[in-house]
Amino acid sequence: MNEIERLFRPGVLELKPYTSARDDFSGEALVFLDANENSFGSALGPSYSRYPDPHHRLLKQKLSEMKGVSPESVFVGNGSDEAIDLLIRAFCAPGRDSIIITPPTYGIYAVSAGINGVACKSAPLGSEFELDLEACRSVFEEGSKIIFLCSPNNPTGNSLKREANQSLLKSFDGVVVLDEAYIDFSEQPSFLLELGNYRNLVVLQTLSKAWGLAGIRVGMAFADPAIVRVLEGIKATYNVSSLAQEWALRALAKEARKEELVKALVAERHRLAEALKQVPEVDKVFPSDANFLLVRFNDAKRIFQGLLDRGIVVRDRSDMPGCENCLRISVGLPDENRELLAALEELGGRCPLRGQEPRASERTAIVLRHTQETWIRVKINLDGSGRARIQSGLGFLNHMLEQLSRHSGFDLSVEVSGDLHVDEHHTVEDTALALGEAFAQALGDKRGIERFGFVVPMDDALAQVALDLSGRPWLVWELKFGREMIGDVPTEMFSHFFRSFCDSAKCTLNIKADGQNDHHKIESVFKACGKALGMAAQRRHGASEIPSTKGVL
Ligand SMILES: *Cc1c(COP(=O)(O)O)cnc(C)c1O
Repeated sequence: MNEIERLFRPGVLELKPYTSARDDFSGEALVFLDANENSFGSALGPSYSRYPDPHHRLLKQKLSEMKGVSPESVFVGNGSDEAIDLLIRAFCAPGRDSIIITPPTYGIYAVSAGINGVACKSAPLGSEFELDLEACRSVFEEGSKIIFLCSPNNPTGNSLKREANQSLLKSFDGVVVLDEAYIDFSEQPSFLLELGNYRNLVVLQTLSKAWGLAGIRVGMAFADPAIVRVLEGIKATYNVSSLAQEWALRALAKEARKEELVKALVAERHRLAEALKQVPEVDKVFPSDANFLLVRFNDAKRIFQGLLDRGIVVRDRSDMPGCENCLRISVGLPDENRELLAALEELGGRCPLRGQEPRASERTAIVLRHTQETWIRVKINLDGSGRARIQSGLGFLNHMLEQLSRHSGFDLSVEVSGDLHVDEHHTVEDTALALGEAFAQALGDKRGIERFGFVVPMDDALAQVALDLSGRPWLVWELKFGREMIGDVPTEMFSHFFRSFCDSAKCTLNIKADGQNDHHKIESVFKACGKALGMAAQRRHGASEIPSTKGVL
């Protein structure tokens, strides 16, 4: 046995992995009757009725080309969290072996060890969050199979020094896992290039952070083929779904776009760090190579709660060693960071950078709406430029709300997590209620607005939306559909949507549409409604009175 094989948990090399139905066959076939898939398809049609490729061949090929490593050195998992768990299971015998972590660091290493009955030893980072090689060496012992290093480190944000990592790779008698979840935000080169030099090196990367695909769950481990073979052998057979594999491939084909996003995010990180340094409540902003900042406050618990009360969620890391009074803050969109700074301003300090914003005339609102059935966050800026970020869980509703945003000129962000497994009802209705509420809030006292708006026809369909921001909720709905569903939204939900919106926005809406194609009809209604809302919410230059049919109030 050579050095790596000796490290595996006893018995692991003898395990016989499950062979999937399709492993028994290679070549071209016309008829697959081997895997008990449903040949009749699914309620959604024929797509995805087949099992995914358990070996992720296309994805591995692509990753291998991009990263310059052989496909045999690539493992693809359900997030890199899966790889962390599998590495512990591959090397550590429960009740006997141990792993080493360097706190403060990513919490999953210790959690995964615990779940697997494996001890977890600590070699804390130094005062500047650098590796303490002495501390590491003092915890090395017979059964320590893995040391997890995280660079850039979560939650501290700094990169570990290259020489220190190399020194550990040489002196540690086990596997060195280098977690590079945030490497793309850093100026430091990846350790991937060193894979050939150290058989005991495992590099973890993920599509969750720089690639912005945390929701699809795809992460990678790069390692010696002997290690990858074992991970493959003990993973769940179909650990990465067809959907995830497809989306990963689609994203990886757009590396330039990812680079742009990373660049924008890093620039925003610099701006946010500078602004935070001006906040009196802030004691220290730690340097970051990641997409978040570790910030030490004078009183982190109070700030954490104060932000929460204002609908802003950050991560309290103050209980971690060396992180007393520290919050970890992900870098948000410029608007979101401005809200964060405004909230911090309210919580005690003043932020000079924030002072440049024209605050009095801002017409923005954030509405959080939590019920048994839905969790919704709506953000609106009536004086925006029609930028939308909509995640309702319903593709067609997303599309409609994007139209509403574009044609009204409102910036609109809608995030919904609803009980779509029951049906679309609550999601559609509650989204409309939250949207109406946000609109009414942002409109405020209506000073200087036009109040009325209407628009007539669009496309082959004729949609008529007349609107009065009257304060009195009323909906007239003259629109019939021939179909039961458009996309993933039942057509009966559209009148509900507008009724709910009217109720919470307190406006009068008169909607009529005719046409042949239901999709066009409803799309033109959303567009026209956007136009009408945009027009009605517009401020006449210099006007400050509240409009009323009985003259000026
Ligand atoms: C977010 C994170 C991961 C998890 O990645 P997934 O691929 O989403 O499982 C791994 N390591 C660190 C340090 C992280 O912060």
